[in-house]
Amino acid sequence: MIYDLIIIGGGPAGITAGIYAGRQKMSTLLITKEFGGQMAKKATEVCNYPGFEKISGMELIGKFVEHLEKQESVEIKFSLVEKIEKQENIFTVTTTEAEKIEAKSVIIATGADPRPLEAIGEKEFIGKGVGYCVTCDGPIFKNKAVAVVGGGNCGLEAALFMTNYASKIYVLEYGAEIKADQENQNEAKKSDKIEIITNASVKEIKGENFVNSLIYQDNITKENKTLEVQGVFIEIGTQPATALAKGLVDFTKRDEIMVESETFATKTPGLFAAGDNNSGKYKQIVTAAGEGCKAALAAYDYLRTQTK
Ligand SMILES: Cc1cc2nc3c(=O)[nH]c(=O)nc-3n(C[C@H](O)[C@H](O)[C@H](O)COP(=O)(O)OP(=O)(O)OC[C@H]3O[C@@H](n4cnc5c(N)ncnc54)[C@H](O)[C@@H]3O)c2cc1C
Repeated sequence: MIYDLIIIGGGPAGITAGIYAGRQKMSTLLITKEFGGQMAKKATEVCNYPGFEKISGMELIGKFVEHLEKQESVEIKFSLVEKIEKQENIFTVTTTEAEKIEAKSVIIATGADPRPLEAIGEKEFIGKGVGYCVTCDGPIFKNKAVAVVGGGNCGLEAALFMTNYASKIYVLEYGAEIKADQENQNEAKKSDKIEIITNASVKEIKGENFVNSLIYQDNITKENKTLEVQGVFIEIGTQPATALAKGLVDFTKRDEIMVESETFATKTPGLFAAGDNNSGKYKQIVTAAGEGCKAALAAYDYLRTQTK
């Protein structure tokens, strides 16, 4: 069988693409490692998805999946996709079990994971003071001291966002200089809450039930220093899950798939990339869902042009 569409990924982008493909009656196979993606890893509640003032990531994804399962033309397969190839107008998707499945169009919705710092205590305190998304978890730290690890644009933007909540924000940069744009640096300098510490190598995040301190080493003096903080945000970039698309797409410096910003089309006709894995700037549940919708509608339009 040759499907109209294969969707790879079971996060908000992939599931929304599946719902739209189902409503367009496209014969669709959604292949995913698991349902939920980054939302499943979220320990605190989602407070910014329209229609839900507060909902756990798993509950929200459960509602997405329930909706997806109502789509009669969409099959679901739990597996990991290793490779996508295209010959003439047909895509072949290969799973880790070496199964080869064919389709006329493909949406890659494989997302991206925050890059871990790999400091002692980091994993243990995820959701208990350690976070990777200030837009999501920042308000929890109202009137508290936090550290933001990473002095790039993401780090400084996270620190600026945290000025709305935290009483003190330490920005820890490994290098001798902050790498963020001048504009972000100027904004940060204006805030009396932000303190930038360069040449800082984070060694350990400590706490009991919740984070209470962070230890870093001064790269020049080699002295270990302690910051009393209740929150630590790791902002050292993301790792998009995009290796499977090699040869068919162009990548940004950060390995994100380059897409056209209206249809989420890649440079290969019939191949789309939606959600956190692409070159788009804003990475949120609602934006991933919106992109999944647009990519599915664009895939539908693409198929119509193929049959003309
Ligand atoms: C801790 C945390 C908290 C967050 N909190 C919020 C919040 O409160 N509000 C908000 O709007 N955003 C939040 N975000 C961001 C949000 O979760 C992401 O923007 C969103 O999940 C992106 O959706 P996606 O579908 O593009 O990717 P993902 O959610 O990453 O989903 C990718 C899917 O693809 C699957 N997959 C990956 N590779 C393969 C493969 N090779 N084969 C098969 N399947 C594959 C994965 O298993 C997963 O199901 C948070 C992120 C994190 C990490």
